Amino acid sequence: MTPESNLSTIAYIGLGGNLENTLELLGSARKAIEAVPGVRELAFSSLYRSAPMGPVDQPDFVNAVMAVETSLAPRDLLKALQMIELSHGRVRTDQRWGPRTLDLDLLMFGLEQISDQWLTIPHAGIAGREFVLYPLAEIAPPHLAIPGMGILSDLVSACPRRGLEAIGHD
Ligand code: ADP
Ligand code: MG
Repeated sequence: MTPESNLSTIAYIGLGGNLENTLELLGSARKAIEAVPGVRELAFSSLYRSAPMGPVDQPDFVNAVMAVETSLAPRDLLKALQMIELSHGRVRTDQRWGPRTLDLDLLMFGLEQISDQWLTIPHAGIAGREFVLYPLAEIAPPHLAIPGMGILSDLVSACPRRGLEAIGHD
């Protein structure tokens, strides 16, 4: 059985970063995810910008959520995402390697609930994070049940947008 022969689970992936070149970085990460054997893109949200909460001398955060259909096991999908973080998450500035700033989180994997030392599914940061919930709500059904957390539309209603703004489709 090839990895592509049973694309049966819908997973949601959160993408984020706050480098000057985050837009290109997220576009490149999206292509890399789509190129993983056994992964097919179903939808990609708008890109969302939010001002950093802390020091103002750092770039805005940019986030998006991608829906994929996959035949991979959750841990294998996480490993693939971590490889993509490593290959995309460092940028060369003034000939020096900066910190890893591309973050790829496996938000949901079907209706699975997993909690071990490597992987927590659904991702613990879904509820209450506007930069996850609003892009997720753009591409997922409103009645989506997020195991252990509630219904997506309820979570969105309970979460203020704060400074979050959509900056357009990729
Ligand atoms: P952040 O909490 O800011 O996303 P990191 O991306 O550095 O920080 O966290 C990576 C760690 O989180 C990894 O060691 C990974 O095993 C763990 N992890 C647990 N659950 C998940 C998940 N659902 N998606 C991504 N990483 C996860
Ligand atoms: Mg992460």
